[in-house]
Amino acid sequence: MGARHIKTAALTANTTTNQKVSDIVKGVIEDVKVNGDKAVRSYSEKFDKWSPESFKLSDSQIQDIISKVSAQTIADIKEAQKNIRTFAEAQRASIKDFEVEIQPGVFLGQRNNPINRAGAYIPGGRYPLLASAHMTILTAKVAGVKHVIACTPPIAGQIPHATIAAAHFAGADEIFLLGGTQAIAAMALGTETMAKVDFIAGPGNAFVAEAKKQLFGEIGIDLLAGPTEVLIIADERADSFTVATDLLSQAEHGPDSPAVLITTSEEVGRETIRYAGEILKKMPTAELAGTSWRDYGEVIVVDSLDEAYELANVYSSEHVQILTQRPREALEKMRNYGALFLGEKTCVSYGDKCIGTNHVLPTRKAGRYTGGLWVGKYLKTQTYQEVVDEKASGEIGRLCGRCSRAENFEGHARSGDLRAHKYLKDEHGW
Ligand code: NAD
Repeated sequence: MGARHIKTAALTANTTTNQKVSDIVKGVIEDVKVNGDKAVRSYSEKFDKWSPESFKLSDSQIQDIISKVSAQTIADIKEAQKNIRTFAEAQRASIKDFEVEIQPGVFLGQRNNPINRAGAYIPGGRYPLLASAHMTILTAKVAGVKHVIACTPPIAGQIPHATIAAAHFAGADEIFLLGGTQAIAAMALGTETMAKVDFIAGPGNAFVAEAKKQLFGEIGIDLLAGPTEVLIIADERADSFTVATDLLSQAEHGPDSPAVLITTSEEVGRETIRYAGEILKKMPTAELAGTSWRDYGEVIVVDSLDEAYELANVYSSEHVQILTQRPREALEKMRNYGALFLGEKTCVSYGDKCIGTNHVLPTRKAGRYTGGLWVGKYLKTQTYQEVVDEKASGEIGRLCGRCSRAENFEGHARSGDLRAHKYLKDEHGW
């Protein structure tokens, strides 16, 4: 029978809105390029109604802010950071430098060197997303990044105390209360009060993701981690209330967060839709979650789990949760996704907040070509070579001469000829 929708999204990707976002971002970047801090301040005033004496927090301001955070929240931040650090350290240990002697006297090697200066964006338009501080800053520090600048916006004119605490405990070297495109542009281009970084990581709304995209090249970026997405694969034994709860847990991120269920059971699909309606009636964040569910929520019934995996690979969602009898088979079947959540005893929220895997993940099908943020994104994999044997150098010189001339590169060829002449006494006619 094939895949059939029993709930469709009211909207699809809106190209007019995307174009508008792109134009706004372009204007802000151009202005910051020319006018530096003055432009940054004017956009912070315009978009966030925020214009403090200094966007950068002093050490005493940071300590004062941290003193306002409850002891329980501080303890929770530290426990979550311990998990994220442990996993990031395991990732670092899995990355090896190596050197190989590919023929006698010819050594080729690879080293992984950290980026020098990184910017970490911690979203805060709607929620104080303090977990993003663990994900971006801690991971950079485990990788060995020397200097990390953290930027996060105020929320409705208020300082996000716990976010500042998380950024501080994660090891941020400087913290700026600044958000959106103006923060990304300031970090990428540098201003009178902010020295430019080499690389920017972190999630954000459509403006933040677009700013990173437009500034790529000027700086490196981790990936395009825009509005959150979730896709659940459920079989007939899945608990529909859990499915509905977990779908809405991600839909509450914003009004544009796709939440998709692919199920082999029409009953699970219909029950999930019913429970979602019930849950939304009492959910404090129902305005955002309900809008996302209405506009971007989908429920699709398929004939088999293989069909579900195939379709999920096309969706290439940021988070893919597997609520089936044998969740681990998804490790073989799924190829395109940001992160996988296997079985009912875990959920996307664990990954979002505290379990230890990184929550900065690819959206809008970027899971086809990249995974999420990890230690390796802060490292540059750089190669080197050394030839210590004269005969080997001469022979590679001959090969290099022929390869270069096949491409009409006479200058390259002569670098090879020179060594073939020196070490093997070859004649050359130039
Ligand atoms: P945010 O910090 O990303 O964006 C807030 C900023 O947007 C503001 O500071 C403001 O300067 C700017 N802005 C708002 N409206 C604007 C406008 N009309 N013109 C120009 N600039 C404007 O916070 P947010 O808005 O709450 O979004 C956070 C996003 O991060 C959500 O979409 C969430 O789904 C996403 N997220 C993604 C991941 C991931 O890994 N993909 C992880 C966590 C969160």
